[in-house]
Amino acid sequence: AGCSGGIHPDLLEKTKKHPCYSAEAHKQYARIHLPVAPKCNIQCNYCNRKFDCVNESRPGVTSEVLTPELAKEKFQWVKSVIEDLTVVGIAGPGDALADWVHTKATIEQIKAGNPDIIFCLSTNGLLLPEYAPEIVELGIDHVTVTINALDPVIGAQIYKHVLYQGTHYEGVAAAELLWKNQEAGVRYLTERGVLVKVNIVMIKGINDGHIPDVVKKVKELGVFVTNIMPLIPAPGSAFAHFPQTSMQEVNQLRNACQLDIQQMRHCQQCRADAIGRIHEDRSQEFRMCHRPAAS
Ligand code: SF4
Ligand code: SF4
Repeated sequence: AGCSGGIHPDLLEKTKKHPCYSAEAHKQYARIHLPVAPKCNIQCNYCNRKFDCVNESRPGVTSEVLTPELAKEKFQWVKSVIEDLTVVGIAGPGDALADWVHTKATIEQIKAGNPDIIFCLSTNGLLLPEYAPEIVELGIDHVTVTINALDPVIGAQIYKHVLYQGTHYEGVAAAELLWKNQEAGVRYLTERGVLVKVNIVMIKGINDGHIPDVVKKVKELGVFVTNIMPLIPAPGSAFAHFPQTSMQEVNQLRNACQLDIQQMRHCQQCRADAIGRIHEDRSQEFRMCHRPAAS
């Protein structure tokens, strides 16, 4: 109803158990990010590739990368300890679609025995035109796409390169291609009832003035919520010398954009292997080297 546009009521019901989308659920339900996708196909200037993808994760210790089989084992172990686990997300540590074979296998294997789990993934969107049909077919109904710019001149300052179908793109051409694919991919998903969230990294002096346009445009594409996030300059990245955007600045921009579309405000930019409720991270407790021996 109201601002929720074309989202099916059943999906909205389900979303109430997704801690990232529901302010109520985030105190009650837990999520697990399974780090099965280490590769990436673009280079963001704020990323140094040693840390988890900022699509969904704050710079921290690099997570262990798991095969789909180990990821399923980890899911089962965590589920047996944390009963109110409702969401399995794939958020890197690279791009979930750049490693689609692993992402897909992980979701298929877990889904087989767990029909009630909500699956979500996060991506830079470059490969959405290729994989959006499979995403829909697999029943992944929550997708996060990081879109930092529509204007390729601005995008060219954010992305160092894009590698697409064997060709290396830079500058304006890279940014143009990335946005074209993001736009087509997001539209495909929202038209099929997938709930899409757009993450936007706020980089002062580069895209801050442009973000309201991004928000308006993705709203037009049927996006459910936008999540404006502060730049956390990763050491060793091209933006390492940039100031970290303050939460006050982020909140001012969120308030302005709230007029167009609802804003996510409790996202914690969790690591690619985050486990538990949003305000806790039990990833250390569930390192695979600590898992109980199979009996
Ligand atoms: Fe890094 Fe993610 Fe950007 Fe890839 S999409 S370069 S992993 S921040
Ligand atoms: Fe939820 Fe944000 Fe954490 Fe993803 S990064 S699990 S959206 S709180």
